[in-house]
Amino acid sequence: MTEAEIETLIDAHVAAAIRCQKSGFQGVEVWAAYHSLLDQFWTPWSNSRDDKWGGTLENRTRMSRTIIEGIRRACGEDFIIGLAISTSDAQPVLLQGEALIETVARHDATGHVDYVTCGHGGYMDFERLMPTFLFGEKLTAPFTQTLKAALTNAKVTAEAHIRTPENAEAVIASGQADLVSIVRGQIADPHLARKTTEGRADDVRGCISCNQMCWGRRSRDYWISCLINPSVGREWEWGGDRFTPAANPRPILVIGAGPAGLEAARVAAERGHKVTLHEAAPRIGGQFRLAGLQPRRGQILDLLNWYERQFDRLGVALNLNSFLDADEIAAHPADDVVLATGSLPDPDARQRWLPGAGRLPGLDSGVWSPEDVLRHEARLGDSVILYDEGGNWRGMGTAWAIAEQGKSVTIVTPEPYLGREISRTSADGPLRGRLARLGVQNHTEHVITRWHGNGATIRSLLTGAEQTLAASALVMSTTNLAFDPFPASLPGKNLHRIGDCMAPRQAPYAFHEGRKLSLGL
Ligand code: SF4
Repeated sequence: MTEAEIETLIDAHVAAAIRCQKSGFQGVEVWAAYHSLLDQFWTPWSNSRDDKWGGTLENRTRMSRTIIEGIRRACGEDFIIGLAISTSDAQPVLLQGEALIETVARHDATGHVDYVTCGHGGYMDFERLMPTFLFGEKLTAPFTQTLKAALTNAKVTAEAHIRTPENAEAVIASGQADLVSIVRGQIADPHLARKTTEGRADDVRGCISCNQMCWGRRSRDYWISCLINPSVGREWEWGGDRFTPAANPRPILVIGAGPAGLEAARVAAERGHKVTLHEAAPRIGGQFRLAGLQPRRGQILDLLNWYERQFDRLGVALNLNSFLDADEIAAHPADDVVLATGSLPDPDARQRWLPGAGRLPGLDSGVWSPEDVLRHEARLGDSVILYDEGGNWRGMGTAWAIAEQGKSVTIVTPEPYLGREISRTSADGPLRGRLARLGVQNHTEHVITRWHGNGATIRSLLTGAEQTLAASALVMSTTNLAFDPFPASLPGKNLHRIGDCMAPRQAPYAFHEGRKLSLGL
């Protein structure tokens, strides 16, 4: 950058702050996080200038300090000025630790910074920036504790995986920060702050740190949504995460307590309907509960506990171990029946990349589904081949769960790399790292052509070459089949089919269909 370009950018920052103030904003946040421009000036590795903008700390912070002083002069003493920073130890050349604290303190000494907010990761280690459940919680709190002790004027905000009111309370009560920033937690439940203020933290629907519909959609340049709160992004259509009373409150029967049925039952009850929910299994959750048994995914089980609390609050009659047949549904007093019976693994384990091949030869013994594994019903032995054609958590998380048991795991997939579907959430790299450290092998762009009872023949999609891998068990993570044992219609009943029993897909679609249906009942 030329000096003239630097001066232009300084002026542009100040002009932007003035525009914000004129638009009614009470403050601005000066962006020096995630190795963006101002952070690049601060960092010796990326600032090799030998003029007044590089070299010493005084010079490297000149641009950001000049911006902050300019904003204060232009916008006055009451205007809030924040400074956004980040910390990461992913690359040793990044500014971190004492050097970062010294840099921030230089700005604090101007007396013009009202708060400093600290994120995690950066554009060079993006997966830490919006950490999924593969990472711990409250990631910046240890750093903000040290930073807070070093600053005399600015308040300090901790960010990064502070999901819940309990997380926030822990950080603030222990003095690790003055404030916390909760982003995804308030996407998952936009009423988080109000519920907490009212002493109802138990009512907060906790973000499950999946990134599937927030960052996962944003990364495709779509508007964001939320896996567990489908009203996000549809505020224009649904009026937000709130409900209007039903015009005609009446009995509603819901069959199946997977994500679609859970959400349909909850929302119908929120709107004043008298809801009865039947689930054939002894627990609610369906396949979602099994996903919650994969490593580090306990947040899903927390969410299922939240549904149970909501059902208690709303008076939903929950019947577990209860399979209704068509006659029992016909005899039920509810005219509106929601069928959310989900999907089951394909008993023939057909592969999408082998259309027309039919049932996998040799399927009769030693072949299991991910659900068998997660229910601890599979007898796997000590070496497992897992065939994954979804590129998502169903197969990948199951492979991880098996590898965590100390078994040898080989993943065979028609995809070009492991976890392709998860890559939209920036969890694929960290997952592949964990699998690699557990010794998991893989064969990408391959299909399975035969199971031998003690190994599988696999075929390359690139060359057609076949080879046989030894294994004590095969797990087939192929596309499920809809489970819908009921007639298309029943006299006098309005049957509403939602979720996987319509077409097996991923959880976000089930939550969305459950919410959408019950908003219209
Ligand atoms: S999509 Fe997942 S990570 Fe994003 S806010 Fe919703 S629950 Fe949280």
